[in-house]
Amino acid sequence: MTPAAQLNQTQNQSDLLPPLVDSFDRVHESLRISVTDACNIRCRYCMPETVLGFLPQNRLLKYESIARIVSVFARAGVHKIRLTGGEPLMRPNLEKLIEQLNVIPGLRQIAMTTNAMLLADKITSLEKAGLTHVNISLDTLRESAFKEISRRDGLDQVLSGIDAAVSSSLKVRLNALVLREINLQDCVPLVEFARQRNLFIRFIEFMPLDADRQWSQDQVVDGNELRLHLETHFGPLTPIDRFDPAQPATDFGFADGRGGVGFIDPVSQPFCKSCNRIRLTADGKLRNCLFGREEWDLKGACETGASDQVIYDIAASCIKSKYASHGISSSDFKQPERAMYQIGG
Ligand code: SAM
Ligand code: SF4
Repeated sequence: MTPAAQLNQTQNQSDLLPPLVDSFDRVHESLRISVTDACNIRCRYCMPETVLGFLPQNRLLKYESIARIVSVFARAGVHKIRLTGGEPLMRPNLEKLIEQLNVIPGLRQIAMTTNAMLLADKITSLEKAGLTHVNISLDTLRESAFKEISRRDGLDQVLSGIDAAVSSSLKVRLNALVLREINLQDCVPLVEFARQRNLFIRFIEFMPLDADRQWSQDQVVDGNELRLHLETHFGPLTPIDRFDPAQPATDFGFADGRGGVGFIDPVSQPFCKSCNRIRLTADGKLRNCLFGREEWDLKGACETGASDQVIYDIAASCIKSKYASHGISSSDFKQPERAMYQIGG
């Protein structure tokens, strides 16, 4: 089934489940699914340089279980899926999962976040399987800075992946994470690169989710500072109205209408009040927040024959336990045990 056909599929009313609403009336409609904790690079803001071992195959949530969980969530109003990781393209046959998701009634978007190292070869099959959106992480256009950040070579592969995505029918966006001492100087060239391809680029503030636990406020370049920095080069940026109230980014356009730039500022301007996201880790644990310290086991439930109602009840209980905010700035904040690559960004 094509994505367009999928958009037209509606839920049978008798199948619907109550929406996943938390104690602060936030309705959860977006599910981020990590399909692996493995990655082919080692970004310093995410992974350790040396990983002792990734999850073995038998600890990964099977595609059938992921599709089953998504079908239950879709009945409760979840309509946006994002596949992530680790690097999602490291999981073999990802297309097979996308095909299974693409026939679930009620889904409007099947997106993926990727470092694009493997994207050029896979874009056609991903598109055919029903992927609708791809967000590509690109922090610099300099090979030396790429290596400093990712502790690997591979910028050319990433750029080929971007070219392939731009030539496809998928909606493409770029994401960049800025570390003050490494790639602040790259932001203007990155915006130029995006604008040449008529793409949107969003800058994400560095959050305390790095495996090395080296996060410090001095490394964070806040969105406001970055916007002023970009305006000195590009002139005034024009705010764009939010068409999705839950979107984490504040977006701006350019006078000539080419491309656009957004700022995702979880540290300086937390957007927890409008958060509608749930996360499923590669080992099948449900989390209600990136910074949450509790997880709900859906892999165990799927493997012990739990009914759809039990899966729903676990999800509802996870959502009910969600805190009002992530608390990064509070004095008793503790970084979660799992790093970004183990949760899913
Ligand atoms: N490997 C894929 C990629 O890099 O696009 C998908 C997974 S990665 C964890 C998803 C996103 O999380 C990337 O855009 C990355 O920049 C972001 N990320 C990783 N660590 C982060 C951190 N400590 N703070 C903020 N964003 C982070
Ligand atoms: Fe891998 Fe993405 Fe983490 Fe970089 S940010 S190490 S590409 S999972």
